[in-house]
Formats: sequence, structure tokens, C-alpha cells
Amino acid sequence: MITVSLIREYLYCPLMVYIEFDNSETYNNSIIAYKLSREAFRGFEEILKRNIWTLKGRIQFKEILEEIFKDIPEYLESIYTKFEDEINNDDLIIKYQNLKEDLKLNSWLISIKVQKILNNGITGSDAVDMLFPPCLNEFIIVDKEDGLLGKIDKIEIIDGVYYPIKFKTSLPPLKGVWDSDALQLTAYALLMEYEFNKEVLVGFINYITLGFKKPILITTRLRERFLKVYNELSDILYNGHVPEVLKNPKKCRACNYSQICEYYIG
Ligand code: SF4
Repeated sequence: MITVSLIREYLYCPLMVYIEFDNSETYNNSIIAYKLSREAFRGFEEILKRNIWTLKGRIQFKEILEEIFKDIPEYLESIYTKFEDEINNDDLIIKYQNLKEDLKLNSWLISIKVQKILNNGITGSDAVDMLFPPCLNEFIIVDKEDGLLGKIDKIEIIDGVYYPIKFKTSLPPLKGVWDSDALQLTAYALLMEYEFNKEVLVGFINYITLGFKKPILITTRLRERFLKVYNELSDILYNGHVPEVLKNPKKCRACNYSQICEYYIG
């Protein structure tokens, strides 16, 4: 089964996919950091909704922020405890600290919006409906016919239209989005079309660090590019094809497999 998350590794260096299947136990910081941030952000939104729900009337921004954020530190501690055994190096501790900052920024941005909504005489419960459309979180889809599996961070449903959303804790490029994110979102769209039998034309990358979403059009060109990557991944995973090595010392130095890869050039 090809998982959507493999696309990112494949685009970084195709050899990573090959090595990963040979060394499934290899410790991978980026996977732990991703699990951590995804879980934290999912619970974070639920706490925000609960705390906004009770607000009404004209309230100072500072009070709104305090009310919205009041349960978050304790929640983050519980997440830390859950992952404590896995967060065992400086890199992951820094990522955890950054995550706390990101959630603060997002609370601050939401508080501004909530204050504007409350000032217009709308209650907190209506503000929740306005700011958080119905959604499905961490929705797993398995396309058995094509052998593709993906866990979609979030699917928002607005007026009956389904939108895939991918969370990112890193910054976007100066223009557009990273290639690997666009292709992963395309894979999510294809899985959703398979599951819900509805065309998916738009998805979003949610940059938690900056507190905003970038839309991606799921174009024919993206679908064709995904198909090409999918075929190449199939060749590695099912036929044992050893992919071409990319000669890029910068990438090798930052690679999780630098210690075990025989093609490493530092
Ligand atoms: S060490 Fe370099 S060649 Fe080897 S998998 Fe990583 S990026 Fe690719």
C-alpha cells in the first residue's frame, strides 16, 4: 500500500523511500514532530470552540484572549507527557516550544476575529459556527483498487462541498506552496473523490506557524504529476527498483538517513 506521506520523502530524495522500507525501525524525528503537532492542533481547536461558545457581549481583547487560551497550557502539558518518551532530543524539544508559540499566535488571531464578531451583537456560540465549519478530523481513506492510503488532517464541509486541509508547522515558500505539499493535497483530493464520489477542486495548506491558509487548485497538471510520482513509488515498493541517487550534499546533511545511507555525500 502506498501512503500519501511517502510523497514528501520521495520528492526530497527517492532513495529515502527505498531505505525506509529496508529500515522500518529507523528513528525519524520529523514523523514524531508531525504526530505531535497534528495531535496538539486537533485538540486545540476543540478547546477554542468550547471556550468561545460561552462568550457574549462587548469584551476587551485581553479578556477574550485569556478566556480562549486558559486551558491550553494544561492541554499542551498533557500532550508533552503523552509523547515524553519520544521527545528525547534537543531538536524535538525546540519543536515542542515552537508549537506552543504557534498555538499562542493562533489564539491571538482568533481572539481578534471573535472580538469583531461579538461587537456586532453575535453570540459566542454563533461565532463558533461562523469560524469553524463542520469538519472531519484525521480522516483515513483507503483506496484498495489503487493501493493508496491517506490520513487527511482535516476535511472542512462548506455548503456540501468537501475541502481537504493539510497542516504545516514550517513556513511556506516566498510564492505559492512547496511542491510536495501540493502533490500530497492532490493525493488527498483523489482519495476523497474515491470515498465520497464528489469532485474535489480546491484544498488548503494551513500554516499553523503563521495562522493562515493558502488555497491550492487541484488542476489536471497536478493530477498528472501525482500519477507520475505514484508510478515511480510503485516501482520502488513493489518491484524493488533502486531509484537514481540525487547528488545534493545539502540535502544529504539534513537527511534522517545520513548515518545509514551508502550514497551519502556530505
Ligand atoms: S543521505 Fe542523501 S542520498 Fe542518502 S537518502 Fe539521504 S538525501 Fe538521499
